[in-house]
Amino acid sequence: MSKETEKSNDAAAASATGSHALQFGTAWQYESATEGTDHFEIAERYDLFVDGEFVAPQSGEYFATINPATGEPLCEVASANAADVDRAVAAAKAALPGWKRKSGDERARYLFRIARILQERAREFACLETLDNGKPIAETRDVDVPLAAQHFFYHAGWADKLDLLFPGRVPVPVGVIGQVIPWNFPLLMAAWKIAPALAGGNTVVLKPAETSPLTALRLAEVFQQAGLPAGVVNFVTGDGATGQALVRHPDLDKVAFTGSTEVGKDIQQAVAGRGVDLTLELGGKAAHIVFEDAAIDQAVEGVVRGIFFNQGHVCCAGSRLLVQESVHDLFVRKLARRMERIRVGNPLDKNTDMGAIHSAAQLARIEELVAAGVDEGATLHQSSCELPGQGFWFAPTMFTNVALSHRIAREEIFGPVLSVLTFRTPEEAVEKANNTSYGLSAGIWTDKGARILWLADRLRAGVVWNNTFNRFDAASPFGGFKESGFGREGGRAGMRAYVRLQDGLSAG
Ligand code: NAD
Repeated sequence: MSKETEKSNDAAAASATGSHALQFGTAWQYESATEGTDHFEIAERYDLFVDGEFVAPQSGEYFATINPATGEPLCEVASANAADVDRAVAAAKAALPGWKRKSGDERARYLFRIARILQERAREFACLETLDNGKPIAETRDVDVPLAAQHFFYHAGWADKLDLLFPGRVPVPVGVIGQVIPWNFPLLMAAWKIAPALAGGNTVVLKPAETSPLTALRLAEVFQQAGLPAGVVNFVTGDGATGQALVRHPDLDKVAFTGSTEVGKDIQQAVAGRGVDLTLELGGKAAHIVFEDAAIDQAVEGVVRGIFFNQGHVCCAGSRLLVQESVHDLFVRKLARRMERIRVGNPLDKNTDMGAIHSAAQLARIEELVAAGVDEGATLHQSSCELPGQGFWFAPTMFTNVALSHRIAREEIFGPVLSVLTFRTPEEAVEKANNTSYGLSAGIWTDKGARILWLADRLRAGVVWNNTFNRFDAASPFGGFKESGFGREGGRAGMRAYVRLQDGLSAG
């Protein structure tokens, strides 16, 4: 690392830990050893993005978005009320005929252009996401932003090939789509939702999470830069009330939601009986199963990535480790040692492994469940790392002696907390893995291919990773069973959710 870079990281560390109080309308500088310096602005205030432009909310209200690494506000964002949502849906409805009349080839060009601009502005997006979300820059730079661009590239590829995707049927757009997303992968979730919708010829109103709206609003700038016709994508910022107004709007043809199971159930009731398509991507409590014949050191790395990636704010996080009894002690020893080496701190430092917990509310939830784990008799192991004095932080944590009945084995913690259970036989592993109301993901570490197939066939989880974990690709469908939701995002299955299929014969 060069002297200059060290200095700039120190400066970033100083601001990220709050020793320089942030002013609204700050110009940011981020410097990396290999890629040069980036400057970008965070405005004092952001309005709603409706019909191709930024407009003041009719509500007249704004709320602050916070940098979780400091607890300080970054800027203010408009709060959309029902009238604002109505205006955005009207814009999407008005834009629909023009957008769906475009050929697949024309739509593909817009998507390619958006993907390329995202790549060009990748560092700005990575920094902004890190500031607004608290996740480490190494993750936003290497995972969130490249994957978001990949989703636009991938779906650009489908836009003019929908006929091939559904042979013998006629794919037509669903119509106006209302989308609501969570805070843990703000830009990536927006890309997951918007790219297939546009490829399918639909128009969109999307509501980002209230605690991480900034990259969606910057994506609006990308849409302007790409010349996307006005009204094709609209962003309404606000809290759950804005989301409620959106999913209940009578002019929607489909609702796509990613978030908690509790809100997913509320939305399911809200759209019931209205003839509105619905896809739900909800919570999870994944089993990460390690057999005695696994490559143990690789499995330790996989388990660490499975639970500590993105501070554990991952719906498919491997939050329940099921380790075969014969290797339990060895595995836990190695895990505890590895946890000590996780670098927790300034998310803008590219050597940081784990950043800030996203919000005070999420930190309180993690603390409550960890206290419940101790009360219920599990054994707590925590990294001795030093945590910054300001902002929201939690050390990498593991519980052993966990019983299936404990809250930490049943409830989604959505933080850097691993619950370790044991099993003796593959049958017991399957039984314990499936003993949950969720069914989003699972992981298997073993040397035996036949065992992987045997387990994958029996695990009630939408995604099963083998000798790896938390791997994502635009071509690979993602979604859950049971209380983890229904519908898929990504791949051919994901595209299916954004078209309706017609059958018909022509005269002659
Ligand atoms: P959340 O359900 O509280 O909020 C998600 C979004 O819904 C936010 O934008 C919020 O403002 C909005 N919202 C809240 N109440 C609403 C209502 N009644 N009607 C409409 N919208 C409403 O979830 P969160 O805390 O932001 O995110 C964490 C949850 O998301 C976790 O449970 C996690 O597992 C889940 N998640 C799932 C996936 C997946 O793909 N399955 C991906 C990421 C996160």
